[in-house]
Amino acid sequence: IQRNPGEAEFHQAVREVLESLGPVLAKRPEYVDAEIIRRLCEPERQIIFRVPWTDDAGRVQLNRGFRVEFNSALGPYKGGLRFHPSVYLGIVKFLGFEQIFKNALTGMPIGGGKGGSDFDPKGRSDAEVMRFCQSFMTELHRHIGEHTDVPAGDIGVGGREIGYLFGQYRRITNRHESGVLTGKGLTWGGSQVRTESTGYGTVFFVKEALAARGQDLEGKRVVISGSGNVAIYATEKAQALGAHVVACSDSAGYIVDEAGIDLELLKEIKNGHRGRVSDYADRRGSAIYVAGGSIWDVPSDIALPCATQNELDADAAAKLVAHRTLIVAEGANMPTTPDAARVLRDGGVIFAPGKAVNAGGVATSALEMQQNASRDSWSFEHTEQRLSEIMSSIHQRCLETADEYGTPGDYVAGANIAGFTQVADAMLAQGVI
Ligand code: NDP
Repeated sequence: IQRNPGEAEFHQAVREVLESLGPVLAKRPEYVDAEIIRRLCEPERQIIFRVPWTDDAGRVQLNRGFRVEFNSALGPYKGGLRFHPSVYLGIVKFLGFEQIFKNALTGMPIGGGKGGSDFDPKGRSDAEVMRFCQSFMTELHRHIGEHTDVPAGDIGVGGREIGYLFGQYRRITNRHESGVLTGKGLTWGGSQVRTESTGYGTVFFVKEALAARGQDLEGKRVVISGSGNVAIYATEKAQALGAHVVACSDSAGYIVDEAGIDLELLKEIKNGHRGRVSDYADRRGSAIYVAGGSIWDVPSDIALPCATQNELDADAAAKLVAHRTLIVAEGANMPTTPDAARVLRDGGVIFAPGKAVNAGGVATSALEMQQNASRDSWSFEHTEQRLSEIMSSIHQRCLETADEYGTPGDYVAGANIAGFTQVADAMLAQGVI
């Protein structure tokens, strides 16, 4: 904490991982001798840069850009870019730290990194977003590359932003280097299923967790926070598997639609016009809109936080316990506060952490890198099948590792220990660097 003052989210993410590692360090003293934990908590490199750009009125605007290249023991740094006014070093480091273990869990050769900016895309024109992205990439391009560091999207960075970023990279470097970014458009090196992958993967994980307990999604009542990329495609897959999704949200409020979320309408509002969930309630008679408030007041069998960090606190967790929610699976990164996670576990709710549950996004990014490297492009069905197998294997690894270390059924311990040991072994093998 003294070494990294004021980085609350980073401290939280580190503490959450370290709490699981006692049994591992007892069993593997070589990790302690090699100072693996101190080395893991120190990013290999962190870059902070100025991003000046001009708005539509001709005024000069200034933002701050970040890229934290956390750990490349397993492969090139890999992790998204977040554009949101709340972004500062502590957020980027928490996300980059989590990404190390998440990427290890996928079993694919990718290291951990994350980046972004405090730029707020809300209310900005396409031309402003383009100029911002071009300025951002004008600095970032020096630090990335298909064998070095491969950014992707996150909050506020979707297909439009990746397009502008890739265009500027190509222009500056004079290289059509497909493998330098993932989440690209399908006609210029993107992968089928990348858009859907985090949301679909989240639901595949839930399906595995339920199957391990002799249950399935058919007829289950689902509440999903957020209404962005992850939330929309989690809704799509949950509905396809027979679940009844009744609520979603944005940062202003939430909607409840007992008739079931009309996904086409939601997509039209969110993707088409970058609108609000309140617009959905205006256009659909069966929906009610609640401004502010907590979406976790809505009873559910399955709760999927898919918006942002620390959105589910202890009070919300107590409501989920009271409603006898079966499972909370984190589509977002660290959406559940540490207190809330304890309340859920004490209340008998299955709790599955983001680094396992939402790993389908980065796994499909790694599949995109594979296709780019071999100049190939796979069908939707084939790619989705790969994603489903990867999620099943992550689920299995978490359970087996939790068993091995004496905490059966504990997905948090399983995910942290399985991810950590893989990275730690690679670091040991590669010496003190
Ligand atoms: P989007 O930008 O597409 O959507 C984010 C959603 O979360 C929006 O509905 C937004 O509402 C809401 N939100 C954002 N910030 C806040 C806030 N401070 N309070 C309340 N609601 C908020 O992002 P994604 O769907 O891509 O990402 C969602 C989560 O999933 C993040 O935690 C991200 O790190 C994680 N994730 C994403 C992956 C991906 O592939 N995209 C991969 C793995 C994890 P509003 O519009 O009002 O801001």
